Amino acid sequence: MCYQVVERYSVCRCLYYKHAIDPCQAYGQRGHVIQEKTVLVGYACGSHSSHRPEAAYDLPGAGVLPDSGYGSGAYSVR
Ligand SMILES: [Zn+2]
Ligand SMILES: [Zn+2]
Repeated sequence: MCYQVVERYSVCRCLYYKHAIDPCQAYGQRGHVIQEKTVLVGYACGSHSSHRPEAAYDLPGAGVLPDSGYGSGAYSVR
């Protein structure tokens, strides 16, 4: 069984570093699997440690409409 050491942040489980595979004799054969050895590093990654994880709001058209464009024509500004 081959081993591959994968280091992950222990807080958010994001990938920190993926080491090279340590191959065995059966490396590359059919049905051969590579055993991942997860090593946790003791902190969160850059996107999960600094601020709020707010990344789901940048879809085009899903943003909040500005007040000036709402109901233009019915509400005239002098
Ligand atoms: Zn192997
Ligand atoms: Zn993370």
